Formats: sequence, C-alpha cells, structure tokens
Amino acid sequence: MKAWQKNIRSITPYVPGEQPKIKDVIKLNTNENPYPPAPEVIKASAEFDTNSLRLYPDPDATVLVEELSKFYERPADNFFVGVGSDDVISIAFQTFFNSGKKIFFPDITYSFYSVWADMYRVPYECKKLDSDFKMVKEDYYEENGGVIFPNPNAPTGVLESLEEIEDILEHNQDVIVIVDEAYIDFGGESAVSLLDKYENLLVVQTFSKARSMAGMRIGYAIGNDELINAMKAVKFAINSYTMNQSSLAVGASVIANKAYFEETIKKITDTRERAKERFKKLGFVFPDSRANFIFVTHEKYQAKDIFEYLKTKNIFVRYFNTPGIDNYLRVTIGTDEEMDKFFDVLEEFIKV
Ligand SMILES: *Cc1c(COP(=O)(O)O)cnc(C)c1O
Repeated sequence: MKAWQKNIRSITPYVPGEQPKIKDVIKLNTNENPYPPAPEVIKASAEFDTNSLRLYPDPDATVLVEELSKFYERPADNFFVGVGSDDVISIAFQTFFNSGKKIFFPDITYSFYSVWADMYRVPYECKKLDSDFKMVKEDYYEENGGVIFPNPNAPTGVLESLEEIEDILEHNQDVIVIVDEAYIDFGGESAVSLLDKYENLLVVQTFSKARSMAGMRIGYAIGNDELINAMKAVKFAINSYTMNQSSLAVGASVIANKAYFEETIKKITDTRERAKERFKKLGFVFPDSRANFIFVTHEKYQAKDIFEYLKTKNIFVRYFNTPGIDNYLRVTIGTDEEMDKFFDVLEEFIKV
C-alpha cells in the first residue's frame, strides 16, 4: 500500500435502489410516486428566468421557506430546507449527535442512518423491533446521545402512534429526537403537533414521496428556532448554496395546492388497500403498512426468487440481502394498472 492510500477514508456507502436505464419497466423499488407532481410545476418551470442562473441562489431559500411556513402555520424560522431529506438528516447528524454517547435507532430501519453515523463517527446502537416490527419504547429509556427513527418505518411501513412517540420524547428530554416522516402523509399522524411541547424534537419531511418530486431533491426539517439556527450554521460551514434556483421556484409553487396533494395520496392509499387484499389472497404475509409500500413475505416462496423472476419481466421491487429481512420484498404502490400487471406476473410465478 502506498503511503497516501493509508489516508483515504474508507466507508461502506448507502446503496440506493436501482434506477433501470431501460424503458417500459414497472418500477416499484424506490417508493417513488407513480403520479405526476402538482400542475403548478409546469407553470413555474416555464416561467423560470434562466438569466437568473448567473447569480448564486438565495442561501436562505426564502421563497420555499415562506410557503412551508404558510402551509404549516408556523414561523419561518422553524424551517430548514435541504437537498432532499437525506441532506437535511445528514446535517442534523452533524449538528446534534456530538455527545460521544451512542445514538439509538431501530435495527430494521432506513439503512442510511448507520452510514451517516459511520461517516460522522457517531457511535450508535440498534434497538431490536419486536416480532410485529414495532419499536419497544422501553429500549429508548436508557441514556443515549440522541434518537432517530422513521415514522412510518421503512422498509416495514409500520406506524407508531403519537402516544408512543410522545413516550419516547418524555424519556429523552436531554437529547435531540428526530422523527423522519418521509411517509407520514400516506396515513399517519405527524409529530409536528408535539413541537410546541418538546423543544428537543426535530421533524423531517420530504417532497420525494407524497409530493411526487424525488427528482427535484427537496427536504426540510421543522423544529424550534434554536435547533434550526444550529443546523443553518452547520450548513453554512459546509455549503451555503445547497438549494438551486429552480428547486426553490418550482418547489415553492406546489405547496399551496393542498387539493392535488390530497387527491394523489388518496389514489395511492386506495390502491395500497386493494394490494393488501391481493397479497393476502396469494398467501403473502406483511405488517400493516401506512406508507406507499408493502413489506411482504411468503412461507412457500423465497423473496429472492420472486425478485429475480419479476425482474425478468421488467418489474422492479426492492430486495434487501440483509439478515433478518432477507426473505421479504418491499413493493412500492404504483398505479392500479401497474399493480394489476405486477399481480398478474406474481400469480404466474406462483403457478409455475
Ligand atoms: C426516501 C426516504 C428519505 C429520503 O428522501 P429524500 O429523497 O432524500 O428526501 C428519508 N428517509 C426515509 C425513511 C426514506 O424512505
């Protein structure tokens, strides 16, 4: 090994779901929304002044923050925006998890948490979910350096109630508790309502799932101004201009259209409930999902075999080759038409 090679940072990266290059695939592997974003996107994109690209974007992301502030009826200084919630959570790790004590998160969860912890050298401990994939709240009562979990959880889709979250907050008032609500709009109660009661709570949401804008990369955190200001300082210590001009303009344009947002969510959750019935009929077992995906297993068929078979038919679902969940598939809810095709192929597989 050369001397300089010894100083290269080695890290096991997060592995995102595949983005197939071929056309005509049914893509149920990365929890994207099958419907287009709100129509305001077309107008805001057409009106976008390309000459303004000469200039750096607004480092405070004011237009976007103001729309979020109106939507949530909370002061603008309660919002931090970033390049997807991945960017936001990454900044939060660097801002809040500096005690040297272990942070806690569930053992089956968003696999990025352990990657950030490794990247920023934050010690951590994974707490086992119970046999129903629920968090065991007592496990989070021990002294720790912070807590983070998604609600609903990924990849399970399991929702924790607001009472359970409040119990975790009650027992963790000396550290920052982050609730990652990437999927909350598909059927959960947001912890935003607890923000005024718990100054150590940070809620993170995204435009990538319910708002159909994964490609735009917009995420945000909601918390009290002290937490938000601390995150802003860390951001300005790394890169002042994370949000590009078109993301700011286009992102801001969609927020006020609640009707479209709710209509899209309703379509997806209706399809999800129908998908649950079809999975049941085929003998699949799954925890009840409140997200835009279902985490399924079958006692007779290997998840990996189903995954491979679907792929030969250009249908992509997510398979995790991770101990404990390696006989599960996470299937994103697509349109009714996509789900019909998916179930046809699944039935075909089960017959042969
Ligand atoms: C999708 C997802 C995110 C990140 O989404 P962004 O596209 O970066 O906003 C964060 N947390 C969980 C649990 C997710 O599934």
